[in-house]
Amino acid sequence: MATYQKQLESIGFRYDTLTANGYNKINGFCFTVNINPGTKDYIISTACRPADEGTVEALYQALQQFAGERKKTVKTAAFNGKMITVICHTDEIVPDITKGVRDSVDFINYCIGQFQCIPCCEVCGNQADTNIYLIENNISMMCQECFANVQNNIVDNIYKENRVNTNYPLGIVGSILGGLGGAVIWIIFSMMGRIGYVAGAVAGMGGYFGFKKLGKKMTLKGLIISLAVSLAFLLCGMYVAIGIDIFNAFRDWDVSFLDALQLVPVYLGDPEALGEIIYNHIFGFIMFILGAVCCIAQFFNEKKVKNRVIKLM
Ligand SMILES: [Zn+2]
Repeated sequence: MATYQKQLESIGFRYDTLTANGYNKINGFCFTVNINPGTKDYIISTACRPADEGTVEALYQALQQFAGERKKTVKTAAFNGKMITVICHTDEIVPDITKGVRDSVDFINYCIGQFQCIPCCEVCGNQADTNIYLIENNISMMCQECFANVQNNIVDNIYKENRVNTNYPLGIVGSILGGLGGAVIWIIFSMMGRIGYVAGAVAGMGGYFGFKKLGKKMTLKGLIISLAVSLAFLLCGMYVAIGIDIFNAFRDWDVSFLDALQLVPVYLGDPEALGEIIYNHIFGFIMFILGAVCCIAQFFNEKKVKNRVIKLM
């Protein structure tokens, strides 16, 4: 099956891959197709309204009738005063959205003609020549004035953000807390005789989010520090867990917990024990790496999307 992008392009839409949105301008009216990757619902919208308030009621009725007649593909069809929106659900068996999109677009175009709709701004509702803009993660059909406002806000935001400095000491405290969380989980699982894989992910992500929360602003340096700190704490947790195992094994031999901790390197020196230890811990590390990769991806994606304003068409 062709991807959503190919399907939408085959019926004349353009596609923004980062936000999974299709968009097009037809006869001066902007159309967007927003695809929900989770539910696979897709939403077709046009910013427009009847020129004459008196026909709004008839538009409502036409939308209801349309949705009622196409229950298999259409979930709802609505008008909010500034925008006609049709929500379709993908048929599980035929995951082809082109027919649903085309039907919806045709129907909206019919409404535009029938109820003498004018293009309007999705934000202020004024009649205007609207364009399609990408604002961070959202696609919006706006007039030029509203877009200028958005641009000004973004400039303000950048100015404010530049004045916030990363608080590294507090950020490091945050990543210690995240790493500590992972370590504690690992130890608790270990004491129950289980392998707490999840602790790896908790440490990997906890360190990052801990830094971000307390350090106020994430930087590349902060990212590296937070991952190194949380990995160190996870390793400490693993070390202590082995110490607890040794302590329990020698309980009758009058070995103190501190002695047991000091015995860990000796224990690891035994090739047979080391093999088992590696086997028991490898998935914890893999989970840590997966968590860290998610954080790294989030960091770079956020950087790419943050304060992004683009006129699409
Ligand atoms: Zn506007």
